[in-house]
Amino acid sequence: MGGLPCASKCGNKAVLKRPKTGAALCKPCFFWSFETEIHFAIVDNGLFERGDRVAVGASGGKDSTVLAYIMKTLNDRYHYGLELILLSIDEGISGYRDDSLETVKRNSQQYDLPLKILSYEELYGWSMDRIVAQIGLKNNCTFCGVFRRQALDRGAALLGVNKIVTGHNADDIAETVLMNILRGDVARLQRCTAITTKDRDANSTDLPRSKPFKFTYEKEIVMYAYFKGLDYFSTECKYSPNAYRGHARTLIKELEKIRPSSILDIINSGEDLKFTNLVEEKLPTKSKCTKCGFMSSLSVCKACLLLEGLNKGIPQLGVRKKAGFRV
Ligand code: SF4
Repeated sequence: MGGLPCASKCGNKAVLKRPKTGAALCKPCFFWSFETEIHFAIVDNGLFERGDRVAVGASGGKDSTVLAYIMKTLNDRYHYGLELILLSIDEGISGYRDDSLETVKRNSQQYDLPLKILSYEELYGWSMDRIVAQIGLKNNCTFCGVFRRQALDRGAALLGVNKIVTGHNADDIAETVLMNILRGDVARLQRCTAITTKDRDANSTDLPRSKPFKFTYEKEIVMYAYFKGLDYFSTECKYSPNAYRGHARTLIKELEKIRPSSILDIINSGEDLKFTNLVEEKLPTKSKCTKCGFMSSLSVCKACLLLEGLNKGIPQLGVRKKAGFRV
């Protein structure tokens, strides 16, 4: 940083430039800014109440590792009164998830948080390795995404938690906004910017899912993990063909170079676009799946439909273009 003083006037030399604000900061001031912004995202949006049992979706990747560390740090520092439990889903991807789960096991010890691991194999009788062997690399993320979403709900039910938090960051949300705009998917556009998603139906058994990193830049999560020396797993999934999201990501990174606020601008635009009658009309109502009992906008949920297709050897059964899973 060429000997620049820390912008917070603490007297230290700056060692980094914050991607979000451009401010030159020393390490302690960066940690404080990063953590305090997330604390305010949590408090201002009322994400938790004292006594909540919260499952932290943990994959061993940078986002969820930093999330687990931050949740533990803020819970202790600000006395939120939360009981935190790491919840990992093992999709059954050899050479990828088995290695990343070893990281989560270490995180569980490092942060002194209990850990529950649930596998697709035990829940559905299928691992992603076997699914890909049957269907190939087309639509594999549809199966994986639908199963993971339900697996998190099932894990949460087993653990008796009342809330789930995930490590989706501002970049992820901005990408999803762009993708939903490009697809003209106004219903998903409405939901994808919410910091907490929860069925509006009072009888719903869906648990609230929150994204404390809604306003947190991916680059800053990487910086934080690096400067804190956190133990995380950084290999990409070997079945990742998500080309469409990759294009949205590249576009946003290009925009960010010219205008760092682009990520938050896109999220803000997504939020403003949701307030239309058209969007309200398109939102599906949810009820319980007649097969598994979990919440669904169809009489049989997407996970049961996909599973039936796999078991009958007709995997395309649950994969329809318009109804496909999008995150
Ligand atoms: Fe699953 Fe696709 Fe993600 Fe791999 S890239 S973990 S297959 S959703």
